[in-house]
Parts: sequence; C-alpha cells; structure tokens
Amino acid sequence: MQLYNTLSAKERAALIEAAGKERLTISFYKYAHIGNTSIFRNHLFIRWNELDVLGRIYVAKEGINAQLSVPAENFDGFKQHLDSISFLENVRLNIAIEHDNKSFLKLKVKVRHKIVADGLNDATFDVTDKGIHVGAEQFNELIEDPDTVLVDMRNHYESEIGHFKNAITPDVDTFRDSLDIIEEDLSEHKKDKKLVMYCTGGIRCEKASAYYKHKGFKQVYQLEGGIIEYARQVEEQALENKFLGKNFVFDHRRGERISDVVISHCHQCGKPCDTHVNCANEACHLLFLQCAACAAEMDNCCSDDCKTVHALPYEEQKALRKGKGASNKIFKKGRSPVLKFKK
Ligand SMILES: [Zn+2]
Ligand SMILES: [Zn+2]
Repeated sequence: MQLYNTLSAKERAALIEAAGKERLTISFYKYAHIGNTSIFRNHLFIRWNELDVLGRIYVAKEGINAQLSVPAENFDGFKQHLDSISFLENVRLNIAIEHDNKSFLKLKVKVRHKIVADGLNDATFDVTDKGIHVGAEQFNELIEDPDTVLVDMRNHYESEIGHFKNAITPDVDTFRDSLDIIEEDLSEHKKDKKLVMYCTGGIRCEKASAYYKHKGFKQVYQLEGGIIEYARQVEEQALENKFLGKNFVFDHRRGERISDVVISHCHQCGKPCDTHVNCANEACHLLFLQCAACAAEMDNCCSDDCKTVHALPYEEQKALRKGKGASNKIFKKGRSPVLKFKK
C-alpha cells in the first residue's frame, strides 16, 4: 500500500526530464510535533531560498503544510533536504509539472498557530486515531458499496466545480461548519455505514476522520492524498475515473481539470462554466464563476456597480475605497446576491 508514497529514482528522473527547465509544483503536509517553530521556519527558509523554491508554507507546533514550486533541476537537492528532516523523510509529495511557471512568485514560510484553520480544540480527541487511508483503486470499490456514505469535506465553492459521483457536498463556507453539519446529517449511521471522505490533498481528512471516530463513527475511511493523488493514480494505474469536473486548487490556477465534464454554471448567465475568477473591482474581489462571454460583457466584474467602479481612473477608485476599512481585504468566497445563478 505504500508504493505510491514515495517516488522512485526512476519516476523522479522522468518527471524532471519532462519538466526540462520548468518548475515542479509540489504540495505536502505532515502532522508532527515541532518544538521550536521559529528555528525550524528559518532553517527551511534559508535552505529553500538557496534552491530557488517559491511558495507558501505554514509551520506550526502541530506540523507543516506546504505548497510550493521548485526548478526541476533542483528537485533532487530539495528531496535530499526533506529526507534529512526526520519527520519528513519519504513524506508523500503531490507533484505536478507547471507549464506557465507562475504558480508562486515568492517564498513565504510562516509560523502559524495551526497548519489548517480547522477551529477544533485538539485536546478533546486523539488526532492520531485517524480513519483508514485508501488509494484510488480501493476508494473506487468503496464508493460503489451500498453501505457507504461518501462525503466531500470541502467548501461549497470547491465542490461546486467538481466532486465524486454520489458524494454529499455540504453547502458550507468553512471546514469547521462542515464537521457539525455532516455529523448531524449522518448521526443515525454511526454504526451501520462506512463513512468515506475526501478533500483536495488529504489534509482536511486527517483531522476530520479522527474527529468522526471520536464522535462515534465506527468505520471511517479517507482518500489518501486527496483528489490530487487520486487523479495521479487513476492515470498511472489506468483505473476508472469517478471524479466529475475540476479540482479547486489554492494557487493562481484555481482549478485542475480531472474529467472533461463541466458540472457547474456561469453565475451570471447560467451557461455551463467552471472557471473561477475574482471580481476585477479591487474593492470587491468576489470569487465567482464567470464564462468568457460574461467576462467580456461585464469587464471581468461581478455586477454593474463593480463595473462602474472598475472603469474609473485608478486614483478615483482608491479614493472611493478610503475609509471603508478592510472591506477590500475580505476575500469573499462565492456568495453574493448579485450572482443570479449561484444556488
Ligand atoms: Zn456567463
Ligand atoms: Zn464585484
């Protein structure tokens, strides 16, 4: 079962060759006990800066969560460095070849209270008592089982553009909200059903599966490495792809196409569309789905009001925002009354 956990030297060589002078986009995480987060943070920053790593990395006492890119030619050095850190030796890396080389523009390594903002009080349950990890093949079998309840642990704007067939996709804005809603909805099945969960890269399920076991669910499974790793295994092992649409990702690409179907709609005209954009009015920045025709007509904005503001000279826009506090700092996620076709 551990085969896909690490890349063989041959797989690495093939990846690097395919990338050429390109960068590899990599994500990984690990729950571990980190004593001095500042020293660890500085250590990573110094070494990774030398390797021309770019990305966003969170370090906390509970572990590390990293999304980054590295020049293909430096990958071996990067991997060696990871392997030199005891709890990161052979950590599973999600790797993609990035062709436009713009997934990250800076190296930011930040010390945080948590590696995922989950709102959970860890003292109440054992986070190491996790669900059973399954790979793509076993996951495909499990989700066809009539005794399975399949749950998407992501937020509404993520599952909207892509999810597994027959998955429950809670209409939630945060991970913390989804935990309670799912528990309530499934409370009668704590003993008789298999609770199978997935998320983008697996990290949310690490916590969620432990939480549900703590709450009394007897059979809890999680897709190891999330949708990202599932897509890789499906391709590599020529398995049936049961994911529909796009996988929402947290870099400038916004989404990675996993299957050709488009399951969502433009929030402005209702036509099939799964392209996330942010409203071009900097005071708004609403995240929503917009097709190319609406983008042209609306000047990349979410509403007529934003279009009007966006058309003003930049200095005037700035003057308008002045005194409005932090309203333009709120990264609104996919909900607004101006969006006619957002359910
Ligand atoms: Zn449209
Ligand atoms: Zn707007």
